[in-house]
Amino acid sequence: MTDKACPGSGKSWTVDIEGKPICPRCRRSLATVAGKGRKIKDLPAVPRHEKPSRATTRNTRRTN
Ligand SMILES: [Zn+2]
Repeated sequence: MTDKACPGSGKSWTVDIEGKPICPRCRRSLATVAGKGRKIKDLPAVPRHEKPSRATTRNTRRTN
C-alpha cells in the first residue's frame, strides 16, 4: 500500500524556475501537496502525498 505514496515524500523540497518549492519527484507545488497557505518553514520536508497517476503524466515517452 505504501507504493501509492510519491517517492518524493519525506524528501527536501526543490524549487522550480520561479523559485517556488515543489516536490522533487512529481514536481507538484507545495500548495498542491500540502495545501494552500502552508509555508516551507512549517514543512521542511515534503509531506506524504499520492504518487501522480499515469493519466496525468503527459510527458511520458511512448515507444512506438
Ligand atoms: Zn511528489
